[in-house]
Amino acid sequence: MKAVRFEEFGGPMAVTQVAEPECPADGVVIEVGACGVCRSDWHGWKGSVSRIAPPHVPGHEFAGVIVETGPDCRRFRNGMRVTAPFILACGRCPDCVGGDATVCAHQHVVGFSSWGAYAERVALQRADFNLVELPGEMDFATAAGMGCRVTTAWRAVVDRARLAPGEWLAVHGCGGVGLSVVMIGAALGAQVLAIDVNSGALEMAAAMGATRTLDAEGLNDVGGAVREITGGGAQVSVEALGITATFENSLRGLAPLGRHVQIGMPTGIHATPALPLYELIYARQLQILGTRGLAASRFPALFAAIQAGRMDPSRLVTRRITLEEAPAAIAEMDGYARVGVTVIDRF
Ligand SMILES: [Zn+2]
Ligand SMILES: [Zn+2]
Repeated sequence: MKAVRFEEFGGPMAVTQVAEPECPADGVVIEVGACGVCRSDWHGWKGSVSRIAPPHVPGHEFAGVIVETGPDCRRFRNGMRVTAPFILACGRCPDCVGGDATVCAHQHVVGFSSWGAYAERVALQRADFNLVELPGEMDFATAAGMGCRVTTAWRAVVDRARLAPGEWLAVHGCGGVGLSVVMIGAALGAQVLAIDVNSGALEMAAAMGATRTLDAEGLNDVGGAVREITGGGAQVSVEALGITATFENSLRGLAPLGRHVQIGMPTGIHATPALPLYELIYARQLQILGTRGLAASRFPALFAAIQAGRMDPSRLVTRRITLEEAPAAIAEMDGYARVGVTVIDRF
């Protein structure tokens, strides 16, 4: 079958013929209908994700049809249209049983721990606990475009920050996940302030429901500007880039007792930022919340909000490409120019 593979970190990526994936006993093989292109794929290719051992096939935001089922997979059968969270949890440890599968200590991250879905077919283990059947009317590109971004944003805003209607939500960074946060915040009835340095991203944020936008280009005190616009600071602020500067801006834009949620994956020098502990955490009594992924058990709540017409994630997908175009789509993430979400939908 065809797959996009790289042989070494940062090296060339190309469509090549690879062996068919083997179906795990507790898993399935999925014929990929669509796969999202994500900044995490770029991080993986660059070598900043420790789970990857090249040669490697990326791709963790997929949807498709089951074409093979292992003997120990009970809940799913061939022909079902499915997706899955990128964190494949074990389903047996206390965290999984208690509903907190995203912190499972035995997790397998598809597209990182094993080959992913930049391919005609992908194998998935632990299917019974992790697979999610798609609502009948949801197409593969929309499901893949939701990818890790809409699902992660849902957990961040709904489950972690517990955003309430009428609260101010500041969103620092309006790439795919930031725009997803804007969309979900607006659907929940919050006032949403979107912040970016890319005017195209801010236009899209406004279209996704942002109440106000702030162009941070050349601005010295972004936190001060956020506090001014929101009349004293946001109650919830999300960092969606993984950069030290936006992390600090996010904290500084919060009202007293505000909740910061860290969605952006901080790598390299951004992994250990200095923190104004006295001013912000002690005196202003802020909370810092981490978030990563969404458990399969929480997908139905997200699907219900979409089916009720409260939001439309298909509007995040701004570009559909072929598998052959995928290597260039990852490589161009060296910059931050593109707006919205790119999905591979032809294989
Ligand atoms: Zn577990
Ligand atoms: Zn992703």
